[in-house]
Amino acid sequence: MMNTGSTVREFEYKAEMKQLLDLIVHSLYTHPEIFLRELISNASDALNKVRFSALTDEALLDRDAELAVRIVIDKEAGTFVIEDTGIGMTEEELIANLGTVAKSGTLGFMQALKDQQKELDGNLIGQFGVGFYSVFMVTDEVTVETRSSERESSGYRWRSGGQGTYTIEKIDKAERGTKISFRLKEDFREFAEEYRVEQIVKKYSNFVDFPIYLDEKQVNTITALWQRPKSELKEEEVGEFYKFMAGDYQDPLDYLQVSVEGMVAFKALLFLPREAPPEMLYRQGELENRGPQLYVRKVMIQHECRDLLPEYLRFISGVVDTEDLPLNVSREVVQSSPVMAKIRQILTGKILGWFETLAKEQPEKFRTFYKAFGPIVKIGLNTDFTNREKLIELLRFESTKTAVDEYVTLKAYVSRMPEDQKEIYYHSGASREQLLAHPNLEYFQETGIEVLLLSDPVDVFVIPSIYEYDKMPLKSIEKADIDFSKHKGDKEGQVADSLVEPLLKLFRETLGDRVEDVVESHRLVSSPVTLVSGKNAFDSQMEKMMKMMQQDLPAGKRILEVNTSHPIVRNLGGMLIANENNPLLRTVANQLFEGALLMEGSLDSTTAFLVRMNELIEAATLSR
Ligand code: ADP
Repeated sequence: MMNTGSTVREFEYKAEMKQLLDLIVHSLYTHPEIFLRELISNASDALNKVRFSALTDEALLDRDAELAVRIVIDKEAGTFVIEDTGIGMTEEELIANLGTVAKSGTLGFMQALKDQQKELDGNLIGQFGVGFYSVFMVTDEVTVETRSSERESSGYRWRSGGQGTYTIEKIDKAERGTKISFRLKEDFREFAEEYRVEQIVKKYSNFVDFPIYLDEKQVNTITALWQRPKSELKEEEVGEFYKFMAGDYQDPLDYLQVSVEGMVAFKALLFLPREAPPEMLYRQGELENRGPQLYVRKVMIQHECRDLLPEYLRFISGVVDTEDLPLNVSREVVQSSPVMAKIRQILTGKILGWFETLAKEQPEKFRTFYKAFGPIVKIGLNTDFTNREKLIELLRFESTKTAVDEYVTLKAYVSRMPEDQKEIYYHSGASREQLLAHPNLEYFQETGIEVLLLSDPVDVFVIPSIYEYDKMPLKSIEKADIDFSKHKGDKEGQVADSLVEPLLKLFRETLGDRVEDVVESHRLVSSPVTLVSGKNAFDSQMEKMMKMMQQDLPAGKRILEVNTSHPIVRNLGGMLIANENNPLLRTVANQLFEGALLMEGSLDSTTAFLVRMNELIEAATLSR
């Protein structure tokens, strides 16, 4: 901070902020007109805040001022002024809000988008809490004059050219609120044309809850969209409302209008985004600030109300407007109010019903939704026991009988099970390809029994807890206790009965306590060995997940199954008869075991594996 003159103080933007400004102004925009939407959106937020404060604060500055946005343009001079009677900013707030990047990670994300050379819609800007700066797309210098609604507040003038610095000085400002003024760059003089500004306001901000005056003429029609009957909602209008409210740059995938009267009365307009918002992917774990807006009798009470929906529906945005809460309700009351609990319960039911209808009537949309949010919704299985049945019906799986990217429901799976199949089989792993290549699948492929392929990491936490569907137990094909009687096997290719035990013993002695047991396999067709889990052991995928969370978790032991019809195993039998002390026997046993671990992705170190592999190659090339 440097002192220039007596009252004007100069501040320097943080380095991060400079880069961000540079990005916004030079690379990220395609629609400069959105600067206006951002400024109106900020004004509208400020008005909402002051309207809320006025409910409880008797001493508020200008308590009776009209809540409005005023735009004044001068075509000749090319100037643009937008003023609101909102909550204003104190000096500290000015510095905090207009001098720093609000959300951590924003710069990184923007840079990444730029590096990927993504065709970027300027619409993205608002999503990252940097909307204000979009004004630097159309001007070289901005002046912000503001006064907080606190009675003892003073006015401040903030000024910046959007380069490296900004200045702040104390000014006399009679009314509370914020006034932003600038001169448009030559190329952007169109934004000082009345018709153009009116057009933009109508396009983006028609549903702003306060009058917007352009040179004294009101240009928006105030409409609480969610209060209107469904038949009067226009698709396009709803889309713009969603984008405005959620800061998304795309139209919603779908929306739901709810109107409830009875024990509680409320109206809601809820949206399903097309994609998980970037922060859901990019800033993991920072989803606290999600949820629909809570209104009480058309007055916004909370911007992002988490209590309206359960955690597993946190990607839904929109508006919920109720008559049943007092206007001056506090956050704590909101949290503990039985009215809220009731609203939440009703909304959850309606939303799950909405998903169900989508699945039935618009399968393509449902698929898009499920791909984006399925992993989040599934969490509900472990947290929302009231709606468990409904959630289970929403589940979709790939299986050995679906094409890539096609899904099967549990219902469909059960309905096409052969009569004598008594269990629902699943197989979990990292990817479809890996799952399909796994030896444990051989028996099922051979006999045509369908197996669900679970490759979403969340699956291992939620699917086993379903236990059964339609009285059929869900079972991992890794389990040792599966009925393999359908597979007659290849008696002729098998090693002599008398060799089975010595072979198993060879494996047992070689592997020692690295395995729980070694048994003869009835599930393998073309692979020599595989690993399975005992009755009470974890599934390998589950174990991997748990290890990720808790490093020192001791590895659970697995059962090695040996395919006694496999040529390698038959050859081992021959070697055993010829010379049971042949060192190659142990090398092969070890290698087969570690190969199975590798297959599952649970071989910790490949060093010994590779040394052994070379040993075996050497032996193989020697005998030629
Ligand atoms: P966002 O609005 O997404 O948080 P912005 O960069 O547009 O990001 O604005 C940063 C902050 O500056 C806002 O969160 C708000 O606190 C403050 N602000 C901007 N415009 C106004 C205004 N007209 N009145 C009061 N505060 C404002």
